[in-house]
Amino acid sequence: MRAVRMTAPGVLEQVEVPTPTPGPGEVLVRVGAVGACHSDLHILDAPPGVFPVPITLGHEIAGTVDTPGDGVTGWSAGDRVAVYGIIGCGTCRGCLRGRENECRTVPVGGVGLSRDGGLAEHVVVPASRLLPVGDLEVTQAAPLTDAGLTPYHAIELARPALRPGTSVVVIGIGGLGHMAVQILAATTAVRIIAVDSNVAALDLATRVGAHHVVPAGPDTVDRIRELVGPAPDGADVVIDCVGVDATLTTARGVVATGGRLLLVGLGGGTLPVRPVADEPPTVPFGTSVEVPFWGTRAELQEVIALGRAGLLAADVQTFPLDRAPEAYDLLRAGDIHGRAVIVP
Ligand SMILES: [Zn+2]
Ligand SMILES: [Zn+2]
Repeated sequence: MRAVRMTAPGVLEQVEVPTPTPGPGEVLVRVGAVGACHSDLHILDAPPGVFPVPITLGHEIAGTVDTPGDGVTGWSAGDRVAVYGIIGCGTCRGCLRGRENECRTVPVGGVGLSRDGGLAEHVVVPASRLLPVGDLEVTQAAPLTDAGLTPYHAIELARPALRPGTSVVVIGIGGLGHMAVQILAATTAVRIIAVDSNVAALDLATRVGAHHVVPAGPDTVDRIRELVGPAPDGADVVIDCVGVDATLTTARGVVATGGRLLLVGLGGGTLPVRPVADEPPTVPFGTSVEVPFWGTRAELQEVIALGRAGLLAADVQTFPLDRAPEAYDLLRAGDIHGRAVIVP
């Protein structure tokens, strides 16, 4: 079968590999669609030894069941499925609480991370990783598993703060950000303020439910402050889907006293947090900072429900498998709007 693999650190190419065989408890899935994620760029850019090589990338997968392995019950050929990409140890404190995304044994284990992923015609996954998607298009189901699930999990963490009428700032309206706006619009009555440096991304934010859009620039904090009021008031929740120094500066510059910063984007910036009372604070008193990772299986089921209800839909740009490396180049250059989805 055809597969797009990281054949050496930083090298992504299409190669021919044997179609894998499902072991006991596993299922061979015919890949219908796989989302191209910024995390894949981090994997490509990681120092040698962090991720296995060669490895088929792709952790945002939907398709149909091809062949269930020995001992698998409940799944038959042709079943339409999404893949929950995380594979935790199953026995640690995090996993036992259903939080495989906070596994204490396997920090970044999963399909397309520690074993072959979905940038291929087929992928083998443990049967426990499958969730039914009903009649959702595969190109819609795939982005739900990460671009949908990751912001959903972050929003779940902040759910008690998302009171009707409060203000939420979403920074970075890319693959995750445009889903975050929709999740907020579908599940809360908050005021949604979207921030991006790209005009097309702000248009997308408006189309999917943002109440206000603010172009990123030197006066971003002032522009948001006009909407949320001066300190110590401000945004109750800020979801930073970028995570570089500039966006983290915006985030801490607009968050309210007692507010919450959700750092979803892995942009490598630094957020200073210094407890002082007698000079301008780095973050307001009472601020909580969280660095959420992906989400839980239960949350993915809820995200799929939002998708099936027509309340959450990725803005999708599709590419055939042999153009996957080009899709990642475009993603790296910031030229993908919404989510790039590869269709093998
Ligand atoms: Zn991802
Ligand atoms: Zn675990």
